[in-house]
Amino acid sequence: MKQAGLCIIIILTVFLFFPLSKCQGPSNPGSKNQIKSVMDLYGHLQVTGNKILGEDGEPVALHGMSLFWSQWCSKYYNKNCLQWLRDDWKCTVVRASMAVEEGGYLTNPAQEMVKVRRVIDACIELGIYVIVDWHDHNAHKHPDAAVDFFRQIATLYGDRPNLIYEIYNEPEAVSWKDEVKPYAETVLAAIREIDPDNLITVGSPHWSQDVDVATADPIDDVNLAYVIHFYASSHKQDLRNKAITALSRGFALFATEYGIYEYTGTGKIDIEEGETWLNFMDSHKISWCKWTVRDSDGTSDDVLFEGADEKGGWSTNDLTISGRWVRDAIIERNESVFDKIEPF
Ligand code: MG
Repeated sequence: MKQAGLCIIIILTVFLFFPLSKCQGPSNPGSKNQIKSVMDLYGHLQVTGNKILGEDGEPVALHGMSLFWSQWCSKYYNKNCLQWLRDDWKCTVVRASMAVEEGGYLTNPAQEMVKVRRVIDACIELGIYVIVDWHDHNAHKHPDAAVDFFRQIATLYGDRPNLIYEIYNEPEAVSWKDEVKPYAETVLAAIREIDPDNLITVGSPHWSQDVDVATADPIDDVNLAYVIHFYASSHKQDLRNKAITALSRGFALFATEYGIYEYTGTGKIDIEEGETWLNFMDSHKISWCKWTVRDSDGTSDDVLFEGADEKGGWSTNDLTISGRWVRDAIIERNESVFDKIEPF
């Protein structure tokens, strides 16, 4: 009888303390029902050590596409196209490559700003990340223009977690210490006066390959990643070794642009080396955007054949070799991300 009494007490205790244990169902704070966008899932991005983390403190790797130079091909800078890139390609990030020289922002600031804002506004609405790229090879020669531009962007969007700044796309054969770093510190200070916390990325000399040089003399900031660019047919293990050096020093990298052709974006394709790069980036949780959303003859890193609709809705026949390859690569990596999100 004593044992039976004890059993009754235990059973009552279980029911008193866990009365709903059979009725709670699957909902919890991370459940599918409560996550409506990529932004809900990851939130504000924060660099810690050599990783970019989401708001939950877990490493995040974004995968998506870079748009082409805004002054030469802005027809894909529209919400319908970006929505297609999100829904069909499963992009979690898009890069707006705002041209600066050669008919870009320096000569047509209002016109280029409109294009960039169209992309930013759409990405905010679509709940994905957007890189605002100062697409320039000589940014250190006109820092005032960059300061003015990024002050405007920070004022308009610095409170949105979607926004990622890229303050210098690809410096050429110039000095990190004397040219790129002083420029970056000036622009960075201007942004931080307005936006203290969003992720900022910065390129390094030799077309954003010298991440080893940059991280030997790093910029002091709370939320900064170094840009690395590669074109797989030209850049191989030597460049990955530079990346490893930067990572091993504790700095985060972001491949805001890359291709699988030669450094010109055309020439010979090297898919095998492209796969090696993707595996490398996967293993280090390096986020990436592939170059580029433009239509042409299918002999370059452009992902679309000539005439592909500017509003998306592309069939397989609209995609170049490069386009088919990268769409598969993005879906492979991001499908599980979108599985956690309520259908749009
Ligand atoms: Mg902010």
